[in-house]
Amino acid sequence: MTSLTDCQQRDAQDPLRSLRDQFSIPGGVIYLDGNSLGVLPKTAAARVAEVVTQEWGSGLIRSWNSAGWFEMPQRLGDKIARLIGAAPGEVVATDSTSINLYKVLSAALHIAAQDAPQRKLIVSERSNFPTDLYIAQALCAERGLRLQLVEPEEIPAALTPEVAVLMLTHVNYRTGAMHDMAAVTAAAHAAGALTVWDLAHSAGAVPVDLNAARADFSIGCGYKYLNGGPGAPAFVWVHPRHADRFWQPLAGWWGHAAPFEFTPGYRPAPGIARYLCGTQPMLSLAALECGLDTVLAAEPLGGMAALRAKSLALSDLFIELALQRCAGHGLGLATPRAHEQRGSQVCLTRTNPKAPDGASGAYAIVQALIARGVIGDFRAGDGDRHPDILRFGLTPLYLGFEDVWQAVEHLRQVLESGEWRRPEFNQKMAVT
Ligand SMILES: *Cc1c(COP(=O)(O)O)cnc(C)c1O
Repeated sequence: MTSLTDCQQRDAQDPLRSLRDQFSIPGGVIYLDGNSLGVLPKTAAARVAEVVTQEWGSGLIRSWNSAGWFEMPQRLGDKIARLIGAAPGEVVATDSTSINLYKVLSAALHIAAQDAPQRKLIVSERSNFPTDLYIAQALCAERGLRLQLVEPEEIPAALTPEVAVLMLTHVNYRTGAMHDMAAVTAAAHAAGALTVWDLAHSAGAVPVDLNAARADFSIGCGYKYLNGGPGAPAFVWVHPRHADRFWQPLAGWWGHAAPFEFTPGYRPAPGIARYLCGTQPMLSLAALECGLDTVLAAEPLGGMAALRAKSLALSDLFIELALQRCAGHGLGLATPRAHEQRGSQVCLTRTNPKAPDGASGAYAIVQALIARGVIGDFRAGDGDRHPDILRFGLTPLYLGFEDVWQAVEHLRQVLESGEWRRPEFNQKMAVT
């Protein structure tokens, strides 16, 4: 069994250890929720203050030119591109993940309607993130289409000649299970369907190569593994073979070919710029850039491949320790053991045969851990196939092996002492 000393030795030998110094992490906290909100980069507060006092305060409207505000979505998009296998000029940082999904799913459906009007189905996963499913439902209602929800193993059989778009999240938010993007995209294309990939739990977490996979459309989140701050702008990528084929439906002036000609007719900008809508939030983009730079700082140390190797080592260790040290407390593993099927999080289930109402206790266990400074989160289930989840995000930029050891030790103590049964840990809050 791996000991605390082993973990400390692994930290001492970790070539990525210095990257942790880029962040302000509160004392006494082991942060296992970087998959929900990344931690604060040390540069962010000063950079945002500079944008407020100098670029806004002194530069005023001139800063759209002099401070490069107008090009921010493209400039940050080029930084994101380096993390997801996209080329410069193929990505913009803008709007939210939900809004960008509406744009790209509309575009995919429009292209499918032109090329194969008989295809009336969107296929997705039943346990996809709800906002993705809601946006798809809204588009189905708008266009007389149907959304078919399947389990991951049912995807190949679901790719019938009726399918217009296969819309998937690359790494599942509930289980951390990861799809083989290249293989699934190839299967979708062989069946005549387009693909939309949500990279919310992938960008900055696992290596992604959108162009090598020949994916069609992609979106992702700025505030999770990219550390861009609460509600940070998201991003959007469209394969160049599709980018000029369609006006996305939120055709605002920032996506116009010549916004400052102020002409009454819409003419889309070439390429990905047409996926912009209106004026972008400069303070938020400035903070997002600080977050992106924390991930790009790994490039000289091996980049996403090195981050991936450490992430897998951390999640392997978490799985090993949690199942050994907490044995007998009803914990199960929802995350795949196979490396190629795992994102950067470990998700546990819990069965609690003694509970009269069958409640898993997962929510209260997570609350008891948070009270001890071990911050993970809880995701409610909806039955046997999708049980309640205790979710632990493992961000290799700022977590070490000893952090994992200590987190599991707290979990063991919470379970063994039964302290999670205390009433205060069983009161549901608005955000879980
Ligand atoms: C986090 C997440 C989102 C978030 O969407 P917002 O528009 O930022 O609220 C969307 N999709 C997936 C798969 C996510 O994990």
